[in-house]
Amino acid sequence: MAEIYDLHCHSTASDGALSPSELVQRAHEQGVTVLALTDHDTVSGLEEARHAASIVGLRLIDGIELSASYQNQCLHIVGLNIDPRHPALVNGIARQQTIRAERAKKIADKLEKKRIPGAYQAVSLAAGNGEITRSHFADFLLANRYVTTQQEAFDRYLSKGKPGYVPTIWAGLEETIAWIKEAGGIAVMAHPMRYKLTAKFMNRALAAFKQAGGQGIEVVTGRASDDEIRFSRQYSVKHQLYASVGSDFHNPENQWLELGRLAELPNDLSPVWELF
Ligand code: AMP
Ligand code: MN
Ligand code: MN
Ligand code: MN
Repeated sequence: MAEIYDLHCHSTASDGALSPSELVQRAHEQGVTVLALTDHDTVSGLEEARHAASIVGLRLIDGIELSASYQNQCLHIVGLNIDPRHPALVNGIARQQTIRAERAKKIADKLEKKRIPGAYQAVSLAAGNGEITRSHFADFLLANRYVTTQQEAFDRYLSKGKPGYVPTIWAGLEETIAWIKEAGGIAVMAHPMRYKLTAKFMNRALAAFKQAGGQGIEVVTGRASDDEIRFSRQYSVKHQLYASVGSDFHNPENQWLELGRLAELPNDLSPVWELF
């Protein structure tokens, strides 16, 4: 039987709506046979996910999505097949989590200055033991009717240049790739079309990514258009990067995006799972 892969998704360990077990259960129901859980800057959901995966007979790939800084641009680097206990990775994650926690306080302070009080308490409560992300702030703004959609929360408050935006220096691109590689994993450039970068910048970033040991690029992502897949395929070919597929699923309420519901990978590319 052909495998169905989904190598990018989120649980309550970061900004996903489902617990790791609920997520694995849903992936299984959707026919996914190989799933990577890739929460933002944390591996804390993996143990629960692994247990749930062993019950339903799904293959779980230990993963993470690290925020990285490259020339003032934030890029997301997915690590696949990592050893979540490797000290280099564990230390790196701890640094990222400190950055996240401090950034969350600063975002809340900025919102407070815009007469939006109580954000920090609300996002801390919502995130629980998981990582706080801007999605939590978007949910807070939505719940308190400062905006009417998540997208509006980003457009009016949380995106670059907006009043609640905090410029953040994450670990460098090379560092994040090094942590992943030391932990035995494969570094994959996440959703290359989502940054809205020029091809010139993206090619420079991918050259640096490859130089530092990056091996893969997401070619098929959730809801990607044919054009986006075509451009991503070209990056994969040009930089000789293995091709990955991942929905970036966060929330079952988003009916347009489902686990495992992905376009076919162009058949001339080498799939990243050849490296597993
Ligand atoms: P952070 O890593 O804390 O900056 O949060 C980034 C997360 O916010 C992403 O992984 C998405 O889940 C979400 N996000 C970012 N931009 C948008 C947007 N324009 N609309 C909706 N969600 C977004
Ligand atoms: Mn997210
Ligand atoms: Mn991302
Ligand atoms: Mn993601």
